[in-house]
Amino acid sequence: MKDRVTAPRIAVVGSLNMDLVLQVEHAPQGGETVLAQSLRLVPGGKGGNQAVACARQGARVSLFGRVGDDDNGRALRAALDADGIDHSGVLNDHAEPTGVAAITVESTGQNRIVVVPGANGRFTLDAGLLGAALHGAGGLVLQFECPLAEVLAAAHQARAAGCPVRLNPSPIQPLPDALWPLVDTLVVNEGEAAALAGQPVATPEEAAAAAQALRARGPAQVVVTLGAAGAVAADAAGCRHHPGLRVRAVDTTAAGDTFLGALAVALARGDTLDEAVGDGMRAAALCVTQPGAQPSIPTRETVLQSLP
Ligand code: ADP
Repeated sequence: MKDRVTAPRIAVVGSLNMDLVLQVEHAPQGGETVLAQSLRLVPGGKGGNQAVACARQGARVSLFGRVGDDDNGRALRAALDADGIDHSGVLNDHAEPTGVAAITVESTGQNRIVVVPGANGRFTLDAGLLGAALHGAGGLVLQFECPLAEVLAAAHQARAAGCPVRLNPSPIQPLPDALWPLVDTLVVNEGEAAALAGQPVATPEEAAAAAQALRARGPAQVVVTLGAAGAVAADAAGCRHHPGLRVRAVDTTAAGDTFLGALAVALARGDTLDEAVGDGMRAAALCVTQPGAQPSIPTRETVLQSLP
């Protein structure tokens, strides 16, 4: 992991949710009522998580999204402030509430999630504000928790501005044909890789084959994350498997978002794809050792001290 003096700038377009995390012995079956041991309100949403991951890895971050004009929205903004994230591109929706994710976490660590998109579903891009953020930025980070038409518009704008696009197409849905050639770096987990490539992805070899198939559709760089088994990086030079780091995982929430954020910041610094995958894996490995979404995302200092 290299350290440089200048902080890269990253723009993130995406979702913001308040996570209601219910710790339970076991999740209720149909018709069953269970008591939770605790309820915690934790800032989350993939866009917010990715913005926080980028900021904690040392980038200056501008986030674009939509929240309700309510207490959850104000609490999410306060959390973004604490990480120094510019959220002037996060607009208030006066009709829909802030997005909420209801998450049960069982004693085994297994989680079940129900998302109410709320204001996220009415996100519209402010092209003027995004244009200012893209100017000189080292990357635009995107996922699929906002309306696809706006994601596509943001990618078009980044391409026109010469800003590389890093996409995690989660929750998975088919990429519009027009989006493929606009993506510089595609980051997918096993399930997403299998769905997009239309072939099984259970081993590093299968991940490499899927990554090459996805590269053929446009993205110069494809990374397939494999949970505890690490990640496969593919570019014009071929495919490399980076074995997973051995840690004691307690909660994998936000692992993929932390990986993408750290990878995007490293690429914006000018690191190679393999160096960036290494940064992503170190940050994500520490993330899974802590519960919750944004509270579990490590800073660059913590990563450097724990996994140099
Ligand atoms: P997602 O959360 O999007 O499904 P993954 O589960 O593939 O993504 O995790 C993303 C990255 O987080 C992995 O590539 C790996 O680097 C790291 N990671 C996830 N789970 C573990 C684990 N149990 N031990 C170590 N690293 C992990």
